[in-house]
Amino acid sequence: MRPPERWPLHPSPAATESLSSWLRRTASSYGMYSHQLLEHGLGHREFSDAELDLDPPRHLLDELAKRAGLDQHRVQAMTMAGWVPWLFDSLTPAPDTYETYVHQFSLLLPPGRRIVYAPRNWVPWLSTSGIRLGCRECLESGATILLFWQLPLTASCPAHRRRLETYEGHPADYIKWATPADDQRELPESLIVLDRRTWQAITTGSVNLPRRSVHAGVWFRLLRTLLDELSTPQGRYGRQLEDVRRVWDHCGHPFRAGLHSWQPFESLHWTRQQQLFEAAAAAMAMIEDGTLTAIGTSHLLRPEPKTPISDGTPPGSLTGTPGAQKQPTLDELWNQVTATRDACIAAAKTDPVVAKHLFDFARYGCRSEASVLGLRDTFGELQIPLDFLSQTEGDEPFA
Ligand SMILES: [Zn+2]
Repeated sequence: MRPPERWPLHPSPAATESLSSWLRRTASSYGMYSHQLLEHGLGHREFSDAELDLDPPRHLLDELAKRAGLDQHRVQAMTMAGWVPWLFDSLTPAPDTYETYVHQFSLLLPPGRRIVYAPRNWVPWLSTSGIRLGCRECLESGATILLFWQLPLTASCPAHRRRLETYEGHPADYIKWATPADDQRELPESLIVLDRRTWQAITTGSVNLPRRSVHAGVWFRLLRTLLDELSTPQGRYGRQLEDVRRVWDHCGHPFRAGLHSWQPFESLHWTRQQQLFEAAAAAMAMIEDGTLTAIGTSHLLRPEPKTPISDGTPPGSLTGTPGAQKQPTLDELWNQVTATRDACIAAAKTDPVVAKHLFDFARYGCRSEASVLGLRDTFGELQIPLDFLSQTEGDEPFA
């Protein structure tokens, strides 16, 4: 006899719940364990929680969607594979993954200073120790486990404004927290802001930064860039050493989280990862309030400059108030130009319309087919998807 298409009991997944957690809750409504539900309900072998939450077989996801009456994307989003390409470029490590993900942006250091480090078999955010984090208050009100608690991606729970903690055991049956309940160090305000932004990226797909809203994919890469910059070996900092030291002094943790030899963030112990999150949060706050000079894509973190409203007096007029029409210096103008260029390039990586405008603008200077092809190569090197430009082809390129 064929099993019924739709399971009679199927609790709705909570927002950002992991597949293993939802399956466990579904199975428990029948008095079963999830492996029993997979075996008797779907004829599948047992999967570990890690297998279910990382990249389970597609046909299993399709069957679960049917049995629970859920959209396939909703079921996929309960796995890490459902977060490609927003959070991960791919779950399969490739030789240039690190460079592509971590070095495309820069906030504190010129990208060339960090480029020597490219760990093998690396996937962003996937902790090599298989970290399990949770919010004590969230878990006291139910055994729903969030997908992102399995990644070192946030350090606190925005709902309860408390630190995430590591634990042993299984929240539905038994849980042993790694730290005593009263061992909650105060959360710095900057870390609350940082984690709130990451949650906004996860739940809405974009983040409101002081200058403008950015796509979640940009946010995750910006954050990972900052974590890399704050743990770069001291010898690479050059003129930026003092700035980076100020960030670490500000948050009161050892310089570079006390690292003696460089390791990617994902390989570090949670204690060091938390210190790096606090340093990243402090650095962002300091860039935003102007107490830290930053470079590259950092302009996204700075508020829009206040443009004085003209009283109608022509610039440079002798009747104007002395100093009111202060002309920018060449340095200031150049900074504006480079900041605008970097903003355009960063936006063009994710927005086809911006990419097309940028290409059209740059093409004005092209007088031959070879120079247009060279421009396309430059866009490729800048990791602006060339298929964004397909609409520009066929126009008269050498006008
Ligand atoms: Zn919570």
